[in-house]
Amino acid sequence: DNIFHKELTEPALIRSIFKPRNEFSHKGNFGHALLITGSYGKIGAAVLATRACMRSGAGLTTVFVPRCGYSILQSVAPEAMVMTDENDEHLSSLPGDLDKYAAIGIGPGIGTEEATQKMVSFIARRYTMPLVIDADALNILSLHKELLTHIPADSILTPHPKEFDRLFGDHTNDFDRLSTATAKAAELKCIIVLKGHHTIIATPGRQIFFNNTGNAGMAKGGSGDVLTGILTALRAQGYESEKAAILGVYIHGLAGDLAASKLSMESMLASDIIEAISLAFPQIY
Ligand code: AMP
Ligand code: MG
Repeated sequence: DNIFHKELTEPALIRSIFKPRNEFSHKGNFGHALLITGSYGKIGAAVLATRACMRSGAGLTTVFVPRCGYSILQSVAPEAMVMTDENDEHLSSLPGDLDKYAAIGIGPGIGTEEATQKMVSFIARRYTMPLVIDADALNILSLHKELLTHIPADSILTPHPKEFDRLFGDHTNDFDRLSTATAKAAELKCIIVLKGHHTIIATPGRQIFFNNTGNAGMAKGGSGDVLTGILTALRAQGYESEKAAILGVYIHGLAGDLAASKLSMESMLASDIIEAISLAFPQIY
């Protein structure tokens, strides 16, 4: 049951996944990404995910936030379209027709209010395309474990160890988490990205990839929200979920390394990881 194939994500693998941008392309070729993010006091998570998504090549980015996020997003992310919930402080509904988006990322900063739980539950049950599921969306799945069996196949789940344990039960060490991740990725037919110093990517086919970019400067609020934006952008551009996860985690860590080399691990911020995505892409051409 615990047999799996292990691989280190090497530059050669990353280059084989990466698809260069066609010079005759237009924004329609790179997909419309939707981010379902934010609540009162955590609009920053929405900002980080949105900016990371736009910096990672999505053709169009729409962000869905509670009303309190409207002017903030329009000011700091003018390239994005902003849709608002009827509620001021937390999400309680859906941003219209979900099927028009090429990729959806859900979770950063959404909180776990009752109405938000209902919204996440509805999407988990009814939506059929793969999702990128992070943060409080994972915590909401933990509160309603039956939802796990409904999430769309090939969704990417991005728990840090605490979120992982809330979802799948307590573990004492990362070796145990590794075998649970392998089993659960196969069982749920999802890609599980277990975040940490060496982020682990477990696929439905029982492959395990160990990422070796990234550094302790990323051990800071907001880093994970950046990853959600990157992954949603890659899915919107047509990368299938496994490839999006491997490439996205690698780029996220590489951008973190570039930010650290310029600004120091102590001082770098999640926003600096976003700015450094611009320098990370040329390194994998
Ligand atoms: P989150 O806890 O959701 O904000 O996610 C943190 C992100 O930063 C994940 O992508 C982690 O892999 C990354 N990260 C945090 N600490 C480290 C570390 N010590 N080394 C490498 N990456 C890290
Ligand atoms: Mg997080």
